[in-house]
Amino acid sequence: MKIETLAIHSGYSPDPTTKAVAVPIFQTTSYAFDDTQHGADLFDLKVEGNIYTRIMNPTTAVLEQRVAAMEGGVGALAVSSGMAAISHAIFAIAEQGDNIVSVTTLYGGTYNLFAHTLPKMGIEVRFVDYRDISAISAAMDENTKLVFCESLGNPAGNIIDLEKTVEAAHAVGVPVMVDNTVPTPYLCRPFEFGADIVIHSLTKYMTGHGTSIGGIIVDSGKFPWKKYEQRFPMLSEPDPSYHGVVYTEALGDAAYIGRVRVVQLRNMGPAISPLNSFLILQGIESLPVRMDRHCENALAVAEHLQGHSCVTWVNYAGLPSHEDHQLVQKYCRGHASGILSFGIKGGLEAGVKFIDSLNLVVRLVNIGDAKSLACHPATTTHRQLSKEEQAVAGVSDDLVRLSIGIEHIDDILEDIDQALAKAS
Ligand SMILES: *Cc1c(COP(=O)(O)O)cnc(C)c1O
Repeated sequence: MKIETLAIHSGYSPDPTTKAVAVPIFQTTSYAFDDTQHGADLFDLKVEGNIYTRIMNPTTAVLEQRVAAMEGGVGALAVSSGMAAISHAIFAIAEQGDNIVSVTTLYGGTYNLFAHTLPKMGIEVRFVDYRDISAISAAMDENTKLVFCESLGNPAGNIIDLEKTVEAAHAVGVPVMVDNTVPTPYLCRPFEFGADIVIHSLTKYMTGHGTSIGGIIVDSGKFPWKKYEQRFPMLSEPDPSYHGVVYTEALGDAAYIGRVRVVQLRNMGPAISPLNSFLILQGIESLPVRMDRHCENALAVAEHLQGHSCVTWVNYAGLPSHEDHQLVQKYCRGHASGILSFGIKGGLEAGVKFIDSLNLVVRLVNIGDAKSLACHPATTTHRQLSKEEQAVAGVSDDLVRLSIGIEHIDDILEDIDQALAKAS
């Protein structure tokens, strides 16, 4: 089935007992065992079933199956936030003494995690320029556990050449982890280009209405963990934290995503609430139609700003003049999602004045809402970074980031124009 259909139907058919057509919210902590043998078999991974909502929940399971189907993966694991998804996707295979390689064009929270928190836990992060594939190759060694990138960078707006990045990583047996939050599987499906693990902040376009925080990790099921068992002993050697199970033997293709569930989720506990899983599922049903409008409106705003006298530059990969425009055609079906940034004449002061003058467009630090949103990264999302770190992340004082919503384009443009007039 096509993604528009999967977004509405996959992972659920009307409940056999109640005939409920909408996915029920299973607001329960625990699940009864038929008898002690049944409980033992569940714990031994011998039979499928539910034990405790920290580890699994039927509402969340529908969300997991739906996103796995939309990405074309073998399985998925939903967690409490996008940051939890990134942290635990990494912790499942990288330990003290290991390193990961990451591009620099990252979401501010991810950059902070990589630059400051992971090193304190003994995981080194080696930053490279996304355009420099040979630098990615040069940065990897026998302790490298993954290469990390954002398919479409937030807020940088750049596009990764996924095929080349994957080729470099796979040449030495390293998996590629892609944060696919901004394009969503509707525009970009990283597994089709060889990526191994996809993560999402479900908080953004997937939920689509700014109501719930959530994240998900999706496994392609294709990375040959067993072949590279020297690099990944945690997947191919008995795990004492789970009475000696060998994940590649017990779970086959789903070894990685299974280990994230039974080690990360069980032992570290970043569970999503069933109510949030339900709300995120409501959003996903309309993702394809919303994304069409987000992209159409964002392109119209980018074109409008390009010709505006108060604007010095516009950064939107959907514009033919953008350096990654060819990559948008190849990886994102020609559409660059709903986020764009521009430089305002007058720098920091004008940027602040512009944001403060908006009436319809909301001032906040989220993206991917049905509502149009604006933020000034230098004074908000990226303010904790040093000037040098801001420059590396592509954030300048005059940069205004817009997440264009699905309102009528005339109303969006009118609000932007009146705020630009006040700021100039
Ligand atoms: C928002 C965001 C995150 C973090 O997600 P949360 O749900 O806010 O924890 C990670 N990556 C990208 C690209 C994001 O936009």
